[in-house]
Amino acid sequence: MKRIINLIYSMKIGFIGLGIMGSAMASNLLKSGHKLFVYNRTKEKAEELLKQGAVWKDSPATLAREIDVLFTMLEDPIAVESLALGTDGFLNEMKKGSIWVDSSTVNPSFSKKMSEKAIAKSIRFLDAPVSGSKVPAEKGELLFLVGGDKIVMEEVQPLFDLMGQNAVHIGDHGKGSAMKIMINQLLGQSMLAFSESLSLGMAMGLEKKMAMDFLLKTPVTAPILEVFRARIEDENYEPNFPLKHLQKDLHLFTDTAFELNKAVPLTNAAKEIYAQAKQKGMADMDFSSIFKFINE
Ligand code: NAP
Repeated sequence: MKRIINLIYSMKIGFIGLGIMGSAMASNLLKSGHKLFVYNRTKEKAEELLKQGAVWKDSPATLAREIDVLFTMLEDPIAVESLALGTDGFLNEMKKGSIWVDSSTVNPSFSKKMSEKAIAKSIRFLDAPVSGSKVPAEKGELLFLVGGDKIVMEEVQPLFDLMGQNAVHIGDHGKGSAMKIMINQLLGQSMLAFSESLSLGMAMGLEKKMAMDFLLKTPVTAPILEVFRARIEDENYEPNFPLKHLQKDLHLFTDTAFELNKAVPLTNAAKEIYAQAKQKGMADMDFSSIFKFINE
């Protein structure tokens, strides 16, 4: 056991993508005493981590040469692909046998494509998107949904434990991403359906707080909506999970349905409603602001 712990602490870790989620996750790795190398497109977002002892690298490529395990937490497949395979990308520079864990929310076919690119370079790959938002990320309470080789997952498990309360092996490459886009499809739909119901309730003369209290106690609402009650009540839409990312996830879901020749009419409709909210300037508000959009 002691040998495994020593082995883990001798591992050099890289983290690319220091937005809302990545900065909190990286901070939890640092707090545990790991040597952490970081890169982000916008360097200012790394300042806090650098004060805590992280080491800055000027490009994904220079970071890749240092590390044994790399985490990426980037906006979407375009960002992941450009930092992995573009100019100064990390994939060509990682050591043979090292591990790349992509925690970004991306589509399953993209995760499979990245796993193939990685394997071709003798890099081991996991798709490990997370369930949980800014606060669970800060508290180290995320849930990792892991696709890929279970043995590789077991090797990374001590690091998952520092950032999350659980890591579940969902299946082979792409299955973690598959489970993640299913979760966010339900999250987006639940919030939208609730918003439409509440908005009409208010138009029918029901008091907002009373209607919310009542609806949230009934079994017909999703339990997760309770988390967003205060935001809707106080109309405070500071972003924990930006609306543009939820719309992106619905897009990943509909894109996947297209690839698999499946019709997903409800998700397509929901995606367009979030797109309209984005067009109205709500892209960087929390996704729960869809209530504000529906109710105006
Ligand atoms: P965020 O704060 O917007 O951070 C996005 C990150 O991606 C930043 O580091 C950003 O760099 C980088 N990025 C975006 N486009 C890029 C590009 N073209 N080239 C290079 N870097 C690029 O987002 P987040 O909330 O941390 O989310 C990160 C991922 O986790 C997303 O896939 C999201 O769907 C997923 N997720 C989010 C939550 C949540 O509640 N927030 C929960 C679960 C999963 P800059 O700093 O330079 O912009």
